Amino acid sequence: MSISLKNVRIVLVNTSDCRNIGSAARAMKTMGLSQLVLVNPVEMPNGQAQALAAGATDVLASAQVVATVQDAVKDCGLVIGTSARSRTLPWPMLEPRECGEKLVSEMNDFPVALVFGRESSGLTNEELQLCHFHVQIPANPEYSSLNLAMAVQTLSYEIRMNALAAQKQTVDKIKTADAINDRMEDEYPVVEEIERMYQHFEEALKGTGFITPSHPGLVMTKLRRLLNRARPDVKEVRMLRGILSSVDKASANKKP
Ligand code: SAH
Repeated sequence: MSISLKNVRIVLVNTSDCRNIGSAARAMKTMGLSQLVLVNPVEMPNGQAQALAAGATDVLASAQVVATVQDAVKDCGLVIGTSARSRTLPWPMLEPRECGEKLVSEMNDFPVALVFGRESSGLTNEELQLCHFHVQIPANPEYSSLNLAMAVQTLSYEIRMNALAAQKQTVDKIKTADAINDRMEDEYPVVEEIERMYQHFEEALKGTGFITPSHPGLVMTKLRRLLNRARPDVKEVRMLRGILSSVDKASANKKP
C-alpha cells in the first residue's frame, strides 16, 4: 500500500532566494510530497534552484505560481501557517507532530495546505490570519529561525511519519479482521455438517414426539433461526449431536 500525499500542498510565500525553492522541492520529494505552490516568488526557479532540487526537478517543474496566499489556498479545507517566532496575535498553535497528524487526518476530505513565509520576515499578520492553525518548530529560543527549506524538511517529515502511522493502523486493522476470519473459517462447520445436525434434530424430536410428523409446524424453522443466529462452532455442533444421540438412546429405551 503506497502513501498518497497528493492532497497536501506546500506553499512558499514570496521567496527571495530561488535556491531555497530548489532545496524545498527536494525536501518535499524525499518525504513523498509533490504539490508545490509558489506565491509571487522574488526570483523564479533557475538553474541554481534545479541544481539544489537534484532528483526533485519534477516537483519544481510542476510547481504552480500564483499572486497571493489566498489564491494558493482557496480550495483548501485546512490551512496551517508556519512561524519562527510567536506573534502578538495569539492563534491556535500546533506542535509539528500535531500539525502532521491534522494534515494527514483531513487530507482525504479536501486539499490541505502548509504555508511558509519569506526568508527575511516570515508571513505577514494578514497571511497568518488566513490560517486555521499556526505551527512552530520548537527550536532553540535564542536562535529559532531555521532555513526555509529545512523548515519544509522538518514539517514534511512529520507529515510522512503521521501518514505511515495511519497506514500501519489500517494494515493492522485488516490483519486483525483476517485473523478473526481465519479462525472462524477453521472453527465454523460447513453447511453439510449443519444440515446433518438439523436432520438429526428433526429425527430425534420426532422420536420424542415433540414434532408430530403429520403436523410438523414451525419447530424446525424456528430452531434453524435460533441456531443460525447463535452460529455454533464445530465443537458446539458436536456437543449438540451428542445431546441428540443421548435423546435418541433415551427414547429408544422407553419404547415398548
Ligand atoms: N525572520 C523570519 C524567519 C523566517 S524563516 C521571521 O522572523 O519570521 C523563513 C520561514 O521558514 C518562516 O516563515 C517559516 O515558514 C519557516 N520557519 C523557520 N523557522 C521556523 C520555526 N522554528 N518554526 C516554524 N517555521 C519556521
